[in-house]
Amino acid sequence: MSSAIRIRDLRKSYGDVQALDGVDLDVPEGSFFGLLGPNGAGKTTFINVLVGLVRKSGGTAEVFGYDVEDDYREARDRIGLAPQEFNVDRFFPIREVLQHKAGYHGVSESEARERADEVLKRVGIYDKRDTRFDWLSGGMKRRFVLARALITDPDLLILDEPTAGVDVQLRHELWETITELNDGGTTILLTTHYIEEAERLCDEVAILDSGRVVEVASPEELMDRGTDDIVVSLRD
Ligand code: ATP
Repeated sequence: MSSAIRIRDLRKSYGDVQALDGVDLDVPEGSFFGLLGPNGAGKTTFINVLVGLVRKSGGTAEVFGYDVEDDYREARDRIGLAPQEFNVDRFFPIREVLQHKAGYHGVSESEARERADEVLKRVGIYDKRDTRFDWLSGGMKRRFVLARALITDPDLLILDEPTAGVDVQLRHELWETITELNDGGTTILLTTHYIEEAERLCDEVAILDSGRVVEVASPEELMDRGTDDIVVSLRD
């Protein structure tokens, strides 16, 4: 099976801090892949390199065969990102924000509106389409950030702690939506601190620690191999 993400000896330093210290990783196309690790392990840096927000210090990083720096546009157009910290245009109705983003990616005006409606329905906040972001509840904001990641119909969806701080019901609803997307063929890369989330959703999990991949396994294998210490330390 070909790789959605192919990483070799990836390095990133911020001054003296080695945030990524020789990462090798393959995320198979169509998989639901988890990236786990304690605070400061390098997960967000890894994602930021993939989406071109941070320049790597060395090694290679490819998305669907495109180098994330040399072929930035081709790689970036395949990725939808739902970041941990969201920076959203707060003053416009959320449907307009989505239409604007689709337009920026070259989608025609009429199609942009159709797509915006489609993704808002998909994440269950279509009835809030004329509301501005600021006025959404915390859970709805999470859903909107997912809708925004989906507006370009990505082949790879990157979710950075998508359920952090949300209540149990919303967590289950988000799980359902994300699982449907994966069933439809979208490759998912998810970072999480919740081992239950990884067990429930992921086919395979990589554990990142101090900028290095220390394990790649199915969540079940991980438990059996006694990687519980690391896993337990992720519970917070
Ligand atoms: P968390 O789970 O807390 O979000 P993480 O696994 O996402 O952590 P990163 O945010 O990637 O980890 O951080 C990895 C290391 O790089 C940490 O030591 C962090 O302090 C450092 N770091 C991240 N961004 C910067 C930056 N812009 N400048 C300097 N150091 C940074």
